[in-house]
Amino acid sequence: MKLNRNDVCHCGSGKKYKKCHLEEDEARVRERRSLATLAQWVAFHATGLRTAVREAARQAEPVQAAMAALGGDDALGTAIGEQIALFDVVVDERALIATAESADDLSGQRQDALRQALAQSWLSLHEVIECKPGKGVRLRDRLLERDRWVGDPELARTLEPMEVVLGRVVAFDKRNVLLEGYEKVWFRGRKAAIADLAALLAEAVAADPAAAVSPADEVAVAAPAVQAPAPVELEDEAEEEVEDAEGADDADAEEAADHTRAAAGEASPLVQTARVRWLKANAVQVVQRARAARP
Ligand SMILES: [Zn+2]
Repeated sequence: MKLNRNDVCHCGSGKKYKKCHLEEDEARVRERRSLATLAQWVAFHATGLRTAVREAARQAEPVQAAMAALGGDDALGTAIGEQIALFDVVVDERALIATAESADDLSGQRQDALRQALAQSWLSLHEVIECKPGKGVRLRDRLLERDRWVGDPELARTLEPMEVVLGRVVAFDKRNVLLEGYEKVWFRGRKAAIADLAALLAEAVAADPAAAVSPADEVAVAAPAVQAPAPVELEDEAEEEVEDAEGADDADAEEAADHTRAAAGEASPLVQTARVRWLKANAVQVVQRARAARP
């Protein structure tokens, strides 16, 4: 709904719109028009959603406990701390981001999809497998052993092959976005950090796979408690995509689809689900261990 300059402002201050929020609203419209990439789009709208639930986060006990473990009062003010507070910590059976209402004019459906994508994301260690100048990067989630293509030219400039980042890849609109606020893991400590976390994760999932997956998956888990990693069945689209990439080095075709593909040694989907659950439940520990790799 469009307000006229002399109408009463929408914020409830009682002032005329032109003397209150008009300038701020116009700046936001300008900013929205300037969004050039999906990464910028996600960052822009995610900020709106995060602002809406930041206060609820501050008051929620499970969030307070997680932030205390992460590094005290100001942890919520850091990018990774805020992500954990809003996307990972379970408050009243769900992540706070799932309850966020943005004041933005993002359509309800898009807002739902974005909230869901953020709530389902997890922190992990991502190794840069490939940088394509002007195109993007291929990241390997080293805790899930899964590759994802992130079509963001800016990342191709700022990251280098073999680097490892602690961060969150959000799948939205069949594309992947590395969320702002990621941290590079100390280069010489990266292998130790990956080995340390991967061992911890494997132990946790192997010890109690049934507890780590939803009741619906339990039947499948029940038979052999820990299955040997099975070859993952790629969906038709993903399979075609692998062929495409092998045949012709067509980066544009690569960017057009959802880039998730199996890396060597990938575990079964069930084990992967269990790993994601563990990573979300233990996000604070993931950050602590990754940062401990620093001298
Ligand atoms: Zn106002």
